[in-house]
Amino acid sequence: MLKLNGNYLKMPGSYLFAEVARRAAAFSGAHPGADVIKLGIGDVTLPLPRACVDALKRAADEMGSKDTFMGYGPYEGYDFLREAIVEHDYAPYGAKIGADELFISDGAKGDCGNIGDIFSQDCVVAVCDPVYPVYVDANAMSGRAGDFADGRWDNIVYMPCTSDNGFFPALPERVPDLIYLCFPNNPTGMAATREQLRPWVDYANEHGSVILYDAAYRAYMTDPSLPRSIYEIPGAENCAIEFGSFSKTAGFTGTRCGWTVIPRALRRGGESLYDMWMRHQSTKYNGTSYVIQRAAEAVYSPEGQAQVAEMIGYYMENARVIRQGLSAAGLETYGGSDSPYIWFRAPEGQDSWSFFDRLLSEAQVVTTPGSGFGPSGEGFIRVTAFGDAARTREAVERIKSIL
Ligand SMILES: *Cc1c(COP(=O)(O)O)cnc(C)c1O
Repeated sequence: MLKLNGNYLKMPGSYLFAEVARRAAAFSGAHPGADVIKLGIGDVTLPLPRACVDALKRAADEMGSKDTFMGYGPYEGYDFLREAIVEHDYAPYGAKIGADELFISDGAKGDCGNIGDIFSQDCVVAVCDPVYPVYVDANAMSGRAGDFADGRWDNIVYMPCTSDNGFFPALPERVPDLIYLCFPNNPTGMAATREQLRPWVDYANEHGSVILYDAAYRAYMTDPSLPRSIYEIPGAENCAIEFGSFSKTAGFTGTRCGWTVIPRALRRGGESLYDMWMRHQSTKYNGTSYVIQRAAEAVYSPEGQAQVAEMIGYYMENARVIRQGLSAAGLETYGGSDSPYIWFRAPEGQDSWSFFDRLLSEAQVVTTPGSGFGPSGEGFIRVTAFGDAARTREAVERIKSIL
């Protein structure tokens, strides 16, 4: 009798965004003509920067000509893109990462989950709570999470991030092997300082843990004193893997390109984690499309940089409007100054889904209930700055008017 992967069968059924979509659709069905504004799902809405579209077209033409056609590319990605990433995203910040320590991917989500393949099923995993669900679910599928009951997995180390600790986790008592950190954070919208990250790097080096650092929102940091990369912290090259993405930086959510950094110095059990991941990629991945890597390279051209800055400026103006509007309405509001997410506490001690329903029925605004991101998200709501500017202003006015 064929047996399925039992780990998948332990996964809780209802996926957060599916339930949000179900409730929004039910509301629209019951109120035809209602003008619903969606500030829920974290997808971008502005088109690709012109420089990227032009590069895509040029690369497509190269593929159509015998003397410039490209077949299989290097498993770790083309030099031109790895070098551009290092030159713009690492070297200027003093992070001593070489182009030969990068793997180009089709986005950060896959690598954040698949990186677990090079570690034992016995590894103990720690995540921030609330958390981007991918880290937990991918490890649950690999059998590392234990069993699911009452909204949590019994073998995951949940590190509460609450208003009491400034939404930054304390070092856990049970020492994890793998530690997922994501800053600026989804969903809380909070960024991390050097002083906050340093003890984590020291802790990981002391205990032999590996930090899996998700920097997908690095481009949204406005405070110049904040670290853009974990490798700005001394010693991180011995304990950290970092994930980057063009999805939020340059609108590549549908275009698909990101990268993973594994420093050559990072070894565990005498083995190079770079070599192990190369073995993984050369077996299970045949590289990111050439045309897409050319489009990503164009992000770093002078025109691309200007266009990306304008795009991020547009979203961050939305973030400012949301943050200021909700704060002025008396809501306890976090994030939104170094990230495109605003995290706020539902008023009068309401739970996340109750206030979600109230925002939907009274203001016709779709948000994301914080409880969907983990037990410590209960009582909070996440809104995103990725929408249209006029619609975002309208949504904020409606929320203010119902409070
Ligand atoms: C959006 C997002 C990503 C990006 O994933 P891609 O696969 O690169 O699109 C990664 N991490 C977090 C926390 C995100 O919210």
